[in-house]
Formats: sequence, structure tokens, C-alpha cells
Amino acid sequence: MGKLSIVATPIGNLEDITLRALRTLKECTVIYAEDTRIIAKLLARYEMRKPLQRLDAVTESKKAGDIIARLEAGEHVAYVSDAGTPGVSDPGARLVERVRSELQSARIETIPGPSALTAALSIAGIDADQFTFLGFLPHKKGRQTMLNTIAESEILVVLYESPHRVEKLLGELGVLDVSRVIIARELTKIHEEVVSGTPAELLAYFADHPDHLRGEFVVMVAP
Ligand code: SAM
Repeated sequence: MGKLSIVATPIGNLEDITLRALRTLKECTVIYAEDTRIIAKLLARYEMRKPLQRLDAVTESKKAGDIIARLEAGEHVAYVSDAGTPGVSDPGARLVERVRSELQSARIETIPGPSALTAALSIAGIDADQFTFLGFLPHKKGRQTMLNTIAESEILVVLYESPHRVEKLLGELGVLDVSRVIIARELTKIHEEVVSGTPAELLAYFADHPDHLRGEFVVMVAP
């Protein structure tokens, strides 16, 4: 019986990869990736070549069947998402669930590493002994209920947000009288920054620095 390795990859800086992740990517027979072009860049950086297959959110169920067949044939399959830890606001969980239920004897191992979630918390400057992670908020249905829950939360709430929705989110948090928001942007990249303030202060900051509304964002709402 084969082995499935779920491998965390960098969230920006290609040096953020563990020795074990590199060894796993080198030793496996095939890499399934959310986007094969992204993993191809990482492999090129470390002078590795490997057969690549795509497994994204749309194809996860179908490709899980292919992976199960490979594991039955004794192959070592690695799975990587576009960035960070698979399964965290990324594909991977359904794959693991199917392999675990259909192939009890297959080994499933984690190769832990970066995640925007933990990277953001590590430099937010706020106590993260307890927090709620909500990933991406829904755009429409259920959004207001989630926002109310965030505003009333007694512990830190962490969200992922796309750059073109950050201002909208700050406006919504301002209406709910949230007192402090911390934004971690472009983590591990050249323009990495953390800014903190009331929603109104952060909106003023982004109005003054519109170029800082680019990139990838983690939004943390203090209790
Ligand atoms: N699986 C990934 C992880 O472990 O962090 C998350 C994937 S999710 C599809 C992508 C979101 O993560 C982005 O929209 C952004 O909110 C956050 N993110 C990813 N990389 C980031 C970075 N370098 N800086 C800040 N946020 C990042």
C-alpha cells in the first residue's frame, strides 16, 4: 500500500519550505497540485523535476479516485495546494477524507509548514492563545450574521480576505463599532506589512496609500 503526503508549501518566499517537504517532493512518485504552474516554479527553484497532476476544488472528487488507485498500486503521492497548508481554505480535506475511508491501510502523513494564518498571528502583536478562524466570509448569504458574530466575539477573530474586498470589510466592521483591526499583508514577501487601528483609521490609511491595497491579506479583529 502506498503513502499520501500532504505537504505545506511557501506563502510567498520560496525559501519557506522545510527540509522534510523538499525530501518528500523529491522522493514521491507524483505530485498532485492545485495549480501545476505554481508547484513547477517551486520545483525549478530547487532543481527538481517530477510528474505533475492537477487536483483543484472542482476536480477534487474525481482526482481522489485516481489517487486511491495509485496508492493501491503502492505509489507515494504528494499533494500541495497553491500556497501554505492544504485544507486550510484550500482543497485537500475531501481527498484525505476519501483516502482515509476507502483505503484504511494507506498511510496519510502531514508535512507541516507555512500557513498565512499562523504567519499573521506570529507578528500581529496580539495574544493568540485563543482565536476563531473563519477563513473567507461569504459574499452575500450569511455575511451579515457572520459580521455580527465577529463584532460580538470575546476572542480574536481571524479572516482571509481578497484585496478588492478589504475596504468593504473595514466599512462593515466600522458600522459594527469594532475597536481594533490588525491587517497583515503580503506576508514573507517584499512588501510585507502589518497595520493596526480602528476600521476608520485603516480606511484612512488605505485611502492615503492605495498601492497598499494590493496583494494578499489576513484580517484580525481584536475582541
Ligand atoms: N492554505 C493557505 C494557508 O495555509 O494559509 C490559504 C489559502 S487561501 C486560498 C488564500 C488566502 O490566504 C489569501 O486570500 C490571503 O487571505 C491568505 N494569504 C495567503 N498567502 C498570504 C500572504 N503571503 N500574506 C497574507 N495573506 C496570505
